[in-house]
Amino acid sequence: MAVPVARPTVVVTIDGPAGAGKSTVARRLADLLGFDYLDTGAMYRAVALIGHRDGLLHDAEALARRLESLELVISGGVVLVNGDDVTAQLRDPEVTRFSSVVAAQPSVRAFLVRAQRQAAFGRRIICEGRDQGTVVFPDALCKFFLTADPRERARRRSEDMARQGKAVPDLEALEREISERDMRDANRAESPMVAAADADHVDTTSLLLEDVLALLSGRIQKALSGGLET
Ligand code: C5P
Repeated sequence: MAVPVARPTVVVTIDGPAGAGKSTVARRLADLLGFDYLDTGAMYRAVALIGHRDGLLHDAEALARRLESLELVISGGVVLVNGDDVTAQLRDPEVTRFSSVVAAQPSVRAFLVRAQRQAAFGRRIICEGRDQGTVVFPDALCKFFLTADPRERARRRSEDMARQGKAVPDLEALEREISERDMRDANRAESPMVAAADADHVDTTSLLLEDVLALLSGRIQKALSGGLET
């Protein structure tokens, strides 16, 4: 009788600051290559939403206990907390701001790192966030660190918001919000946002999306066929 063999886990990581295009690139790459996609920022946002709603943002221990009793499911761009679809609330400016506050709490990170490794197990998956190549999947097949000028990142954010029919703050305000979040993410003690030593840096400021996709998918395909050269 044939013994079922677990499929090997294949992870590609995309890290970088807010608004560098990680989500769009990760989602499109996943479609192109037949991989799954994990938006780990959405997980931190869901925790921020719960912390805010339950008044636990500044009580790390109580928030961690609350997380242990929750079911957090992220699938196909939809985030469910105990079965409730909270996707639409995750992009609220308050939730966005609080996400980098809860992300500095070691107990929150430990909980989500565990959830992310479980989510990736046995899959071919593109994982996007701040610590995917450094902490969560140090043995990933390919690692990318995407950046872009702060002004360009603010401009893209404002286009996204306009497309979604949301009120768009002026570019200076957006750039300030993005820079504040980057500062908190890069300077926290626990798993700060930093490129992995073996990550490919890609500055997307003046690149078209299609060029970024071609560059990354070329590197991934090469690595998959065993021909990765540095
Ligand atoms: O990627 P996104 O902007 O949705 O992430 C929201 C926040 O979640 C980030 O500003 C960061 O504080 C946190 N985050 C993190 N580690 C990750 C993904 C997101 O700390 N892997």
